Amino acid sequence: MSRKIRTTRNYLRRILVRTIVATLVLAFLPLLIIAVVQGLTTARNDMYDLNAESFLAEHASDVDVSDAVEDGWSATIVDGELHVTQLGGDELFEQGDLSAEEWTVFLRSTGEVSRYVYEVAYSDGDDGYWLVFRKPRAVTFAWVLYFNREAQGFNSTLVLFAAIFSVYFVALLLFVVLYSRRAARTVTESVEKVSDGAKSIERGDYEINLEPCGTAELDDLGKAVNRLARELKSKDELKKKEEEKRMLLVSELSHDLKTPLASVQGYSEMLLRGVKDEKTREEYLQLIHSNSVRANSILQSLFMYSKLGSDGYEPSREPKDICEFIRQIMAEYVPRFEDKGFAYELGVPEEEIVISMNKELLRRVFDNLLENSMKYNEPGTKITLKVSKENGKVKIAVSDNGVGIPDEYADKIFTPFYRADNREGGSGLGLAIVKRIVELHEGEIAYISDGEPGCRFLIDIPAK
Ligand code: ADP
Repeated sequence: MSRKIRTTRNYLRRILVRTIVATLVLAFLPLLIIAVVQGLTTARNDMYDLNAESFLAEHASDVDVSDAVEDGWSATIVDGELHVTQLGGDELFEQGDLSAEEWTVFLRSTGEVSRYVYEVAYSDGDDGYWLVFRKPRAVTFAWVLYFNREAQGFNSTLVLFAAIFSVYFVALLLFVVLYSRRAARTVTESVEKVSDGAKSIERGDYEINLEPCGTAELDDLGKAVNRLARELKSKDELKKKEEEKRMLLVSELSHDLKTPLASVQGYSEMLLRGVKDEKTREEYLQLIHSNSVRANSILQSLFMYSKLGSDGYEPSREPKDICEFIRQIMAEYVPRFEDKGFAYELGVPEEEIVISMNKELLRRVFDNLLENSMKYNEPGTKITLKVSKENGKVKIAVSDNGVGIPDEYADKIFTPFYRADNREGGSGLGLAIVKRIVELHEGEIAYISDGEPGCRFLIDIPAK
């Protein structure tokens, strides 16, 4: 059986109605209980209906109350002279003789509801006397409500009574209604706010901030909705940024490919139209070749860059001595530096520093940094490579004292297709690829701009 889902408002309304009914019932219940217990006690008191008359004898001296006294009753004879004779049980009067006033007061008091039941019988024989019985009551309720139509002013009293009770119940009802409505409103409004917040999120509007509200649980729920909105907002922004980056990459790529491809197309068209001069033909073919090499190199770099950044790409790595690795690379570069007139300085320690590396990828890192130093600087520039070990990390500094990178470009040089001052050179992907490779080695690369002339890159990779 499916359970009907109500709105919180309806649910609370039902609770309100039930509360009112329950309150009224509970308000009447004590009266009912009193009435029932009163009835039961009265019924039980009936058993105490002593019927004192049945104990009366012709003469006071013949009265035998021994059975009754055994049951815990107290019995006393009061004769015509108001002389008291105790027959058994507790003493009902303190002194021997009673005054007429005391006797009257006593007789009047026997009718009142008290802890005892009294029974008084009169024998009107030769010597008239009263037999007085007293029996303790187990429970006594002093609350009695009589309606007596014979009484003068019964109707007006009844109206007053009804009016007071009506006012009482109306006040009670009003209180219950107002109080419950207030409580219900607090809950309902909070639930509605949280629900509106959730709906905004559903619509993709994350600009919500639910105020602290209602009960602790609803407040927690509100906070959770706020948190969810914030998280979704930041994810959304991240997604948008990623998308922007992708779009930028595509537009940069098409821009970079446009020039070489347009050249290839232009020169090949001219060749097709026919060029008689052999020298010009060769020149055109050369241009077609170099532009297609450039386009190919851009595409290769882009392919590399996206492969390195693709989800789940984990290059294979093995433990190797980075110092030995760098010495080997430098053995290839030193003749080139000397050939091209670059000065150089090496600071590679003799000790072994082992890191987990992918040789091909790390090779690309050094190729790129060293080639850049030569590509963007004039001969005579000094290129320095230093390796050290600090705090369980190998630190590799690759620097030169050449033209450097203007400060305003410094924080963007790892961005794909970014070229400081639009310098002609490579694809603009070199340093972006370098950064990804270093990160795949759980390391970091930073461009240090500390006012010193030239370029300084610092790589940190965890050592084994
Ligand atoms: P590219 O593939 O065009 O060389 P990189 O990502 O390797 O691109 O470098 C980005 C930019 O940083 C270069 O275009 C150049 O402007 C600048 N740059 C990198 N290395 C150096 C350097 N050693 N000296 C001067 N400028 C450099």
